[in-house]
Amino acid sequence: MTGENFENREENKVDVIVVGGGPAGISCAITIARAGKNVVLIERGKFSGSKNVFGGAIYAQPTREIFPDFEKNAPLERKNVEHKYALLGEDDSTVVSYKNTKEDAVSYTVIRAKFDRWMAEEAKKEGVIIVEETVVRELIVENGFVVGVKTELEDYYCNIVVLADGVNSLLAKQIGLRGDINPEDVALSVKEVIKLDKEKINDRFHVTDDEGCVYTIFGGSMLGMLGLGFMYTNDNSVSIGLGITLNELVERKIKPYELLDKMKSHPTIAPLIKGGELLEYSAHLIPEGGYKKIPVLYGAGVMICGDAAMFVNNLHWEGTNLAMISGKLAGETAVIALGKQDYSEHSLARYQEVLEESFVMKDLRTYKDLMNVMHDRKDEFLGYYPKKINSFFKMFTSVNSVPKTELYWKFIKSIFKDRKFSVLIKDGISLMKLLWSILR
Ligand SMILES: Cc1cc2nc3c(=O)[nH]c(=O)nc-3n(C[C@H](O)[C@H](O)[C@H](O)COP(=O)(O)OP(=O)(O)OC[C@H]3O[C@@H](n4cnc5c(N)ncnc54)[C@H](O)[C@@H]3O)c2cc1C
Repeated sequence: MTGENFENREENKVDVIVVGGGPAGISCAITIARAGKNVVLIERGKFSGSKNVFGGAIYAQPTREIFPDFEKNAPLERKNVEHKYALLGEDDSTVVSYKNTKEDAVSYTVIRAKFDRWMAEEAKKEGVIIVEETVVRELIVENGFVVGVKTELEDYYCNIVVLADGVNSLLAKQIGLRGDINPEDVALSVKEVIKLDKEKINDRFHVTDDEGCVYTIFGGSMLGMLGLGFMYTNDNSVSIGLGITLNELVERKIKPYELLDKMKSHPTIAPLIKGGELLEYSAHLIPEGGYKKIPVLYGAGVMICGDAAMFVNNLHWEGTNLAMISGKLAGETAVIALGKQDYSEHSLARYQEVLEESFVMKDLRTYKDLMNVMHDRKDEFLGYYPKKINSFFKMFTSVNSVPKTELYWKFIKSIFKDRKFSVLIKDGISLMKLLWSILR
């Protein structure tokens, strides 16, 4: 059965309706418009990006796939040339850094309220009709096919609806493609934007005017918890935040902004943001379920992309790239289906097939066991061992007239005192299993 059997509702009918004007929705809609099909994108915010929160950096290569010249026109903050991985102890830290100023950009920091709005304007230029300040309340389903959307204003009809409505995706839930979100499968993230002079940013982060520095932060106030922090340099501000798995916050009765405050006062972080003025505070959920929690991705007349499909690679802070590419692939599938006038589940199954061949599914599959291992062994891998790495460097850098061999043995003995040999073997096996699941 194909959707062409449905009666025409010409006044309010288009080829495709995309719900959500984030990176996934805009990439999908622009792909469809470029193929000459008519597409309406419905966004609940005042404008695209007005409600969107991220770290954050957008990634150059996937963004170029949608907007080949974005580096000339888009509102970009800084080109990230340095990545620092900071392992915070209670008061000390070990920081590993990689810097490269010569290569082409891998990522740029952006402010989503500006960047998403820019993407939406580009989409309009290419023929996407954008309806803003409108919430899609419900999907219209007839004879098993999704055939349109209900908004607070009116109903709109189409051949295909693409859901790019972000992490909560109540619409995917309404038609049974997704269940309730499990608190283990999302992180609650809090973020502050702190105003700092350009010169101060350049001095403190050792960058020049257009260069940026990205921090990925482990431990500190999050020691032993399933959480990760971040810091990004913008033109005249620094974005700092962290995300903690929701069930962790509930179980431990902790407030995420208290963890953020503590992280900001850590001796490694505090000098970087000293004297800054708080510009903005926000909170948002991040899908963390990974490969095993990906919902059903398509049905008759419908596809899901971006965060709504749980497409986030949390270890790498990647989400916008998976959103853009999944949106593009959903858009291409819609164009093919429109050409055949076949909007059935069978026709839209192509979306899943091409996703499986792309880095989106391949990367999510690579880390499919990561969250399970981290949930089970967070005390060890996110608590004990990070502390031990810092205490190793404390020992290694100490000068106290104690012979070095004695210091080394004291350190080694402390490990066996803390953890039985059998427990160390168990930790080693867990780590090897995790590495094997990533590399095979
Ligand atoms: C704190 C934090 C830090 C992050 N850092 C990074 C980073 O540095 N780099 C990176 O690549 N990714 C990062 N991510 C992830 C990234 O932000 C997301 O993966 C990405 O935004 C997903 O894009 P999307 O288009 O699927 O969803 P969203 O960007 O969430 O867009 C969904 C859109 O749908 C609209 N909408 C929702 N429901 C409806 C409805 N019913 N009707 C109409 N409109 C609706 C919303 O208003 C929104 O505009 C971060 C996320 C968080 C929370």
